[in-house]
Amino acid sequence: MSENVKKIWTFIEQEHGKAHPVSWELLGAAQKLSADLEGSEVEAVLLGNQVEHIADEAYRYGAKRVYLIDDPVLSVYRNKPYASGISRLVEKYKPEIFLVGATILGRDLAGSIATQVKTGLTADCTELAIDPDKKILAATRPTFGGNLMATILCQKHRPQMATVRPRVLPMPQPLPQAQGELIREPLGLTEEDIPVKLIRFIPSTEMLNIEYADVIVSGGRGVGSPEGFKVIKELADALGGVVGASRPVIDAGWLPREHQVGQTGKTVRPKLYIAAGISGAVQHRVGMSGADFILAINTDPNAPIFQIADLAIVGDLFQVIPELTTQVKQLRQQSQLAGGNHA
Ligand code: FAD
Repeated sequence: MSENVKKIWTFIEQEHGKAHPVSWELLGAAQKLSADLEGSEVEAVLLGNQVEHIADEAYRYGAKRVYLIDDPVLSVYRNKPYASGISRLVEKYKPEIFLVGATILGRDLAGSIATQVKTGLTADCTELAIDPDKKILAATRPTFGGNLMATILCQKHRPQMATVRPRVLPMPQPLPQAQGELIREPLGLTEEDIPVKLIRFIPSTEMLNIEYADVIVSGGRGVGSPEGFKVIKELADALGGVVGASRPVIDAGWLPREHQVGQTGKTVRPKLYIAAGISGAVQHRVGMSGADFILAINTDPNAPIFQIADLAIVGDLFQVIPELTTQVKQLRQQSQLAGGNHA
């Protein structure tokens, strides 16, 4: 490994030996950056307990090298050992750029690393590029309540750090034969050094993870009440999907926050996104415009959501959605009778 190589690092987030998909999205982005940054290589950082198998996956998604700290102390995420382990790696190997997923874990970790290594961090980026003149990271994110996009450069400090939310970046195609180099590093801490102790691990099975759903049926203020979401849920169930929502629904307490799609909610890229009673404000659209197919249902023919919809139905959602649900169920039944498993 040459000293002069500009290292583009990505953090491989994992829980109980399973990598978070945002890790691969970051590796895809890192490869694009590397193509525009001469003399650079894409590498990954992996921490955990008995997680070496994840390095093989990282090679397939474009990492040339994986720095691994494998230690029982790292079996569940705690800020201190993760942040101090990675900060030591940063100080030793001096990456040029370091990308982290803007997940709950990633947000906690990235800020601590940036503080420890005394560099800047651009959080919640929506676009990453290499500035053509300065040859440094140009990290773009919404600002002033989403009304402006700001491109931020970290000119003097290294690494240039950025977090990106899951699903903002496309998932790259894995290369099944790809291989890479594994570099093992010690953690340099023992359990006695960690003030936070794990008493019991409670898996968040109740937490909805809409970012990676294939089908999302979302309701907006037009649904009118929490009870109104019954029809939305019935269609989502019939399609094997999940329920999403616009922000007023969450602010009114009709649904918990993890359902919110948009700038201050989740970014989603489903195969099918149904927007019912949602006007299509820009702050909602930034979270769902990457869907493969958008079906919008709205009583207002001039609703902005129709500008990005693949299929527009002007009508009352309380008439349209139950009819759609009935048709989906019928199609599913017919398909099952015919021996297929898709509606
Ligand atoms: P409305 O704009 O009130 O639209 C309701 C729609 O329902 C209307 O188009 C109406 O014609 C239609 N309708 C009414 N009755 C029916 C019916 N029976 N059948 C069919 N259609 C019907 N918003 C988000 O969604 N996500 C975010 O993350 C987000 N972040 C924000 C961040 C900031 C900093 C700011 C300032 C705003 C943010 N917003 C966000 C709010 C956003 O600007 C909009 O106010 C919001 O998206 C509007 O939600 P809505 O479309 O459900 O409601």
